[in-house]
Order: sequence, then structure tokens, then C-alpha cells
Amino acid sequence: MHACPAGAGVGENEVKTYKSGKQRRAEIKAARLSKQHRASHRVDGFRVRPEGTEPVNPARLRPNNSYGVPDFVWRGYYKDMAFRCVDCGVEQVWTAQRQRWWYEVAQGDVYSTARRCAPCRLKERQRKEDARRAWREGLERKAARQLRPGWAGMAPKNLDR
Ligand SMILES: [Zn+2]
Repeated sequence: MHACPAGAGVGENEVKTYKSGKQRRAEIKAARLSKQHRASHRVDGFRVRPEGTEPVNPARLRPNNSYGVPDFVWRGYYKDMAFRCVDCGVEQVWTAQRQRWWYEVAQGDVYSTARRCAPCRLKERQRKEDARRAWREGLERKAARQLRPGWAGMAPKNLDR
């Protein structure tokens, strides 16, 4: 892996009126390195994918009815994304690898993004499971009451007579 300096390739077209030979040579070298840099990240002939990113395979994304195209599809790669956990407020990074997994393996909605940190995600999952269990148990109790034989299922006013 080679170094990937921030902003490599940026400013190479900057126009300067006066240049020393040394400056000129440095620019030529920078331009050459930048070209190599871009070539090493070429993924499909015209797109440039920086280091630390993951390529997007649109064929593996979950289909959706929107006419729009998500940013990462336009760009052609996933990149680390900073976000704040909605529950605990901790600053987090949703990594390019996790994004690829979410969209292409877990088939997450292409417009959904990370909202919770790992511990809060676990807690949220537990909370949902508990709620589902309570709901299911409630249904089972209701069904058991309705199945009880005799007058237990009758309305109280009928019982007074
Ligand atoms: Zn959190």
C-alpha cells in the first residue's frame, strides 16, 4: 500500500505566473505521483476509488421504487461516514466495509443509514424482542380466555340473570 496524501492531485492545474526550475520539477513530480495514484485506484475505467473505500456493486443492492440514485451509487464506492448515535450521542464512524455489508449482504434499504452505535443497537434489538414477546404473550392470553369453556367468556350483564 502506498501513502495516500490528503488532497493529492488537487491544485495541480493551478496557474502560476512565475515558477522556479525547482518548483516546476516538484510540480511535475507531484503530477506524476497523482497520475499513478489515480491509476492505482481505477475501478471501472473512469472512476477513481480512494483508499479505505469499498466498491459498490449495484446489482446486489435491494431494489427500490425511487427514481433517485443514492450518493454512493453515483460515486461508485462506499466511504467511511461519521454519525452521532441517536441514543447515547456518541460520535461514531460507519465504515465503508460495514456499509457494503449493510446494503449488499443484509439488503438494507438503500436510503437507510447507520443511526446507533454497536452497544445501543444491541439494546434496541433486545427492547424490540421484549416488546414482541409481550405482544405475543398478550395474544396467547386473549386466545386462552376465548377458548375457556362455560360462561367465562360471556358478558357480565348476561351473568346477572
Ligand atoms: Zn449509542
